[in-house]
This record gives sequence, C-alpha cells and structure tokens, in this order.
Amino acid sequence: MLRVTFLGTAAARPTVGRNVSGLAIERDGELLLFDCGEGTQRQMMRYGTGFNVSDIFFTHMHADHILGLTGLLRTMALQGRVDPLRLWGPSGAEPILADAVALGMERLPFGVTIRELRPDARVSRDAYDVVAYRTQHGTNAVGFALIEHIRLGRFDIERAQTLGVPPGPLYGRLHRGESVVVGGRTISADEVVGPPRPGRKVVYTGDTRPCAATVNIAKHADLLIHDATFGTEESERARTTGHATAREAAEIARRARVERLLLTHISARYADDARVLEREARRIFANTFVAHDGLELEIGFRDAGTEAHPAVKVEP
Ligand SMILES: [Zn+2]
Ligand SMILES: [Zn+2]
Repeated sequence: MLRVTFLGTAAARPTVGRNVSGLAIERDGELLLFDCGEGTQRQMMRYGTGFNVSDIFFTHMHADHILGLTGLLRTMALQGRVDPLRLWGPSGAEPILADAVALGMERLPFGVTIRELRPDARVSRDAYDVVAYRTQHGTNAVGFALIEHIRLGRFDIERAQTLGVPPGPLYGRLHRGESVVVGGRTISADEVVGPPRPGRKVVYTGDTRPCAATVNIAKHADLLIHDATFGTEESERARTTGHATAREAAEIARRARVERLLLTHISARYADDARVLEREARRIFANTFVAHDGLELEIGFRDAGTEAHPAVKVEP
C-alpha cells in the first residue's frame, strides 16, 4: 500500500479552507511526513493518519514548513511514544530543528535524531529510498523523491507446472533468477519469470521555481506534487519569490512524462476558487489536479492493471 494524504496545501499562511504545508505518505504500515507546518498535528487527527511517524523530511526551513514540529513532538510525548523519531532537512537545518525540538522545555521521552541531507543524498530502506535533490527557492531547499526498488518479475505458476517444476523451494530459486534441474532438464528463470518490474515513484518538490532537477528525478513518476503558488497572471511574483505557477508546474510534469500532477502550496489569493490554476495547468498537462486538505491518493502498481485511483474528495 502506498497512500499520500495532503495535510496542508496553502502557501505561506493558512486560510479557512487550507492549512500550511504538510504531506503524509503511508507505505506498508510505515508513516513518513514531508514538511510540518503549524497545525499539522490537528490535520493528522482530522484526516486519520495517526501519529506513528518514523521520519519527518523537511524541504527547507521557512516557517510555514516547520512550525508544527514542536507541538507534534509534545503530543507524541503525551501519548507515551518511546520509538525514536528521525528528522531530515537540507544543509543548515540541524540547529534550527534542534531549537524546535528543545522549545517548550519538557524533556522528550523518546530519541530524536537530526540529519542534514545534501542534494543527491539518499535515505535507504529495505524496499525504497528517499532521495533528496536540489530545488531553487533562494535558500537551502531540497525536494524529495520516494523511489521504490525494482521488484522481481512476475512468476508464471501455470508455466512452471507445465514444465513439471514441483511447488516449493524451486519456485523461489527460479524467481530469484537461478536455473533449476527437473527430471534431467535445465529450466532457466526466464522461462517462468517475467522481466523485473519497476516500483512506484512519488516526487514532492516543496517550494521551488521550475527546475531541470525536478524533471530529471521525476521521470515517469507515478505522482508529482509540485509548488503551484500562483497563476500565470502572477508569473513575475512567482519568479521573484522562488515559486512556480501552475502552468510552469505542468510544463515540468509534461517534460518528465509523469502519470499525474498534483498542484499544492496554493496562494491565499485563490482561497475562493483554485480551479483557475487547474485550468491553466491542464492546457499543458491534462492529468492535473489542485490538491486540497484531506485529499488521499492511493498509488497502485501500474503493472497490476490498477491505475492510481482517481482523486478522492474527503470532506473536511
Ligand atoms: Zn512555503
Ligand atoms: Zn518557502
């Protein structure tokens, strides 16, 4: 299971309808947070992600992406958390995050580690990596790509049976690419195992201008979540503040040939209606949606014939 939940989709400050930045990704029972703006913990309650977070990845140290950390840690402490928590951020993040952890005086009953990730650094786990890459926001800022490892090819049980391979350990050896001998005949893995299958990929830019680094890392991603603070009429402001327009985000999505684009970090000027951003982006890249708080997306394996589910509207 790979589920993305938008906890906050507003730029700079919350509005009545949108909280500031926060994104939860749940993968096979593990919960990762990306950015943690003020009020993120309440959004986590509201949208039911739970607090069993193992890692929080910060794209940069602007207030609208980090001010939720202190309160979230206090709540975790009150809930009796003992599991360690890992915090990750770009160069320069360590002292700022350490201050946020220490703020409020009470000692935390669980360990917190803080690590800075240079661009291209990766946090490797059993079945996936989180890779940091350099974005363009006028400060130390990174985006993150969650990239699952390549999976073994599909095992054709019927074919194996036809070839006389008995169910059991030989199946496993074939699946791992070894040849086996059955009744004097050598059977090679490629007779019963399909080609390796790619894992899923989700890319979150954080705040950024459109940049080639996003195109590179997001190539064929299942989901690209891109800064789209402004519409085209505010192109100049997007440029001077280190943000992207919806149209620019769509251009990146088109060049990277992603499956789907979600626009986030929406300026308060679109508080009443953000669909103008969707319309502008869709002229460039059709499979675009404006994210809203509480939006949940489940990302399926493409080879399983399960397209990513359509956007699910979750009422606040
Ligand atoms: Zn921001
Ligand atoms: Zn920012």
